[in-house]
Amino acid sequence: MEENNRKNHPKFTEYQEFIVSHPNYAGLQFKRKENNNIVWVAPKVTSDGKLRDIWWQNQAKKLGIEIKAGFYVKIAVTIHPTKLHTCQICGKSLSIFYVYPNSNTLKKINQTFETDFQPFEKTIFEIIDTISNKLEAWKNIFNLNKNTEVTDYQLLKDWIQKEQVDTSSKSFFSSGVMSNAPDRFDGFHSDGNCCRSKSDKGRSKENLQRYGQDRRVYENWADGDWKQADRLMSMFRKFGLSADHIGPISLGFCHRPKFHPLTREENSAKNNRMSFSDMQVLIADEKNGEQVVSWHSKYIWDKLKNKVKNDNDALKLSKLMRLNLHWVLMVFAMIDEKGFRDFLMQFLNLDYSNYDYKFPDFQLDGTFTKIIKTDKKGKNQENNKERYVRVAFESLEEYKNKENRRVTEWENENIDNFLKQLFEFLEQKNNSKAKEKLHEILQLLAQEITQNWEKEMVYLKE
Ligand SMILES: [Zn+2]
Repeated sequence: MEENNRKNHPKFTEYQEFIVSHPNYAGLQFKRKENNNIVWVAPKVTSDGKLRDIWWQNQAKKLGIEIKAGFYVKIAVTIHPTKLHTCQICGKSLSIFYVYPNSNTLKKINQTFETDFQPFEKTIFEIIDTISNKLEAWKNIFNLNKNTEVTDYQLLKDWIQKEQVDTSSKSFFSSGVMSNAPDRFDGFHSDGNCCRSKSDKGRSKENLQRYGQDRRVYENWADGDWKQADRLMSMFRKFGLSADHIGPISLGFCHRPKFHPLTREENSAKNNRMSFSDMQVLIADEKNGEQVVSWHSKYIWDKLKNKVKNDNDALKLSKLMRLNLHWVLMVFAMIDEKGFRDFLMQFLNLDYSNYDYKFPDFQLDGTFTKIIKTDKKGKNQENNKERYVRVAFESLEEYKNKENRRVTEWENENIDNFLKQLFEFLEQKNNSKAKEKLHEILQLLAQEITQNWEKEMVYLKE
């Protein structure tokens, strides 16, 4: 992991030593590097990570925590000895609970009271203590105007503790650190939320761009020879052409080495949409034997593609395919959270990393006739695969928290029952049955969404 090689703030090193020697973590394995630093991260897919995972599973039994969605977080919070996490980057010590006003809440507070509190500077309780003569204004911030029970500051704080902090509600607050069990030793991301937006996400985005990789491919678990497609995309960029897929990856289409040159304006207008003519190109390519849509989105595409008669329909299909992909990723997130990351790994196309491509007669208009393919094996390819896996599973994390979900969940008992059966097959390590069941679930999801075609109802919030 890149992160294991990131430079530690001295306070983070102190924190690590404190944690690994604390009896609450007795039996949880870790290694040391030559410079004696602790190897903090062990992804669940690695052999060290698997050993650690067994420890987490045992902790669940010990603590009487049921092994289901969210159980790692519960353990990580329960056993944390101080409930304060130290940030690897800035060394700040922040609560693991949801006690920091999120950016919206902080904005409201600063506007209302003409203050200048910075993110993660103080907990909500500390802030309230500094402004304790404006109860009505405070109630307004939390939409409690009509609540007649909150009549003083202590009751306000009690309400925040009970209704917001204890339920890990993200409506008004943020925690000091995101959970990341079992990959990291203490079950939390190394960088606190004080630095997270600046570090991990930005960093990998930047890196991926530097390597000419398209992050959306991994985030959306897209099919297609991504290596060849990335290389081709770089060629377009090199020649000042903006290239994008006819079928957007964010709707479930493949990352294919086939692009349409677009002007910048066209490209940004396109985003998550297809036009009727885009669809005709996709259908024609499909007739020529090309795979245009990723395996997980094939059911909805096949059900609806022939119903599209004009641009309006194409837009409607775009929205439904987006919803479908959200649901697919939710299902993947559930599988991951239950501890079956290995099962999901088979759907990542890591082997494309072992080849490289050149386009020697690439023309200014984006056409070419020759592709030179070479075998590549080495450290770069391994790093490539590692980034791919990391980004793919990071994107699933977003779906683990219900509050974060940008879409309505399905209301279909059959899907829930099928999910239960899927988890049973996974428990029994029956890969082929589990795969079959997953496909049945995807068919049900597509069916559920197809009903909305006639109703013209699209329940995407974004
Ligand atoms: Zn920080």
